[in-house]
Amino acid sequence: MNLVIVSNRVARAKPNEPITGGLAAALLPVVEKSGAIWVGSSGRVRDGNQKEPFAEIEALGTGALAMLDLPAAHYGGYYEGFANSALWPALHSRADLIRASEEDYASYREVNAFMARALLRFQNPDSMFWVQDYHFLALAAELRDLGITQPIGLFMHTPWPARAVIAGVPHHRALIEAMLAYDLVGFQTDEDCENFLSYAEADLELVVHNGVVISQHGRTRAEVFPIGIDPQKFAQLAAKAVTHPDVSRLRRSLNGEALAIGVDRLDYSKGLVNRIKAFDRMWTLQPQLKRAASLLQIATPSRGAIEAYGNLQSELARLVSDVNGIHGEADWTPIRYLNKGFGQAVLAGLYRTAQVGVVTPLQDGMNLVAKEYVAAQNPENPGVLVLSKYAGAANELDAALLVNPHDIDSMARAIATALSMPLPERRMRWEAMMTRLRNHTIQQWSADFIDALQESQVDAGPLG
Ligand code: UDP
Repeated sequence: MNLVIVSNRVARAKPNEPITGGLAAALLPVVEKSGAIWVGSSGRVRDGNQKEPFAEIEALGTGALAMLDLPAAHYGGYYEGFANSALWPALHSRADLIRASEEDYASYREVNAFMARALLRFQNPDSMFWVQDYHFLALAAELRDLGITQPIGLFMHTPWPARAVIAGVPHHRALIEAMLAYDLVGFQTDEDCENFLSYAEADLELVVHNGVVISQHGRTRAEVFPIGIDPQKFAQLAAKAVTHPDVSRLRRSLNGEALAIGVDRLDYSKGLVNRIKAFDRMWTLQPQLKRAASLLQIATPSRGAIEAYGNLQSELARLVSDVNGIHGEADWTPIRYLNKGFGQAVLAGLYRTAQVGVVTPLQDGMNLVAKEYVAAQNPENPGVLVLSKYAGAANELDAALLVNPHDIDSMARAIATALSMPLPERRMRWEAMMTRLRNHTIQQWSADFIDALQESQVDAGPLG
């Protein structure tokens, strides 16, 4: 079996460079260990319509990374345009933020077709294609047009929203019809999967039976594969990282004060504004928590060329500065706010230093930070996870303190509860969450998807 993984960006391979995005963190181990080739954009563009797309290839463990230069004329319309200004907001139920022109859609389809042509040189008759995420919804249709008959699967790392929201995406019908050229489409949660099937049945008027959609392309199986992490790796990283200079300096600077941590891309789906407001509320309602607990918020810059992201960055900077101005003291800063990324080795140590992990997205496919925070805790004295009920992770980590990220007062109360939770309760909740993480690892996730993809054409048979 020759597995070809496709995603928008290929993770940087150098071990010490920070990687951001759950996808990158999830897939490198699969490439290293199973000899797969991972194909994606190099982050560079190239002029002209190249006949033979340019790829830089780098060995990684038993596998390889192939980094393609995408066509300059279409990159912006594909990436900042259709993928991140139409699909991303829609997938996160923010139809109000959908912005996309006809040219953006055309560029998205062009880049999908370009990627399909580029993949021809990486495949053989035994290949299987595993495509990641919303950047390549039309890739399977393009591959079929080029004569590819091998199994092709898609995993959606994002949520899949209600029918009416998807219908706000320009060309949604053509796009999702193209998506049905996949043999298998994986989702993070039951709700995502049900939303997808109900769109196929009600809007596309297709036959849906036992999770299978029958279309002009044949059968597409929709199935749930909640993504996991490697909890053992995180626990080891965290235990080691406590001696890392960055982590020990942080600990010393706290002077015994409790710390809450948030780690997010700077994205409107992450609920950062409401989170900062909840801390503001908490220090207002419970002034005894001033000096007793502060917040370290890492907000890694992301998609800065898109207006909605630029606006959010300004809004957050203003809000954090207001809250620090109101609650701060000459010798105490309530919120340490950082616009940069960290490598996972340091991140694991930061998670372990914090008594509370705050993960409060308005919508999130899974949210790997929630799982990593839990895995990084000291088993003798674990911290508490405050988790939005709208993160995919809430289905599995129901022993966290689950919160509604729209209800700022109740979030403020939950954070205060987390800060004062007695050890036996912290231990009980942490054990329950760790059991889940240990039984549903990232290795198991990829093995399950690959098995299902392998099976996807076996029982297809003739169409009824
Ligand atoms: N991450 C990182 N360095 C940072 C911030 C985040 O390595 O400075 C990683 C984090 O460890 C996690 C991923 O980026 O594995 C974020 O995944 P998540 O599912 O939480 O959110 P996404 O960014 O994919 O929406």
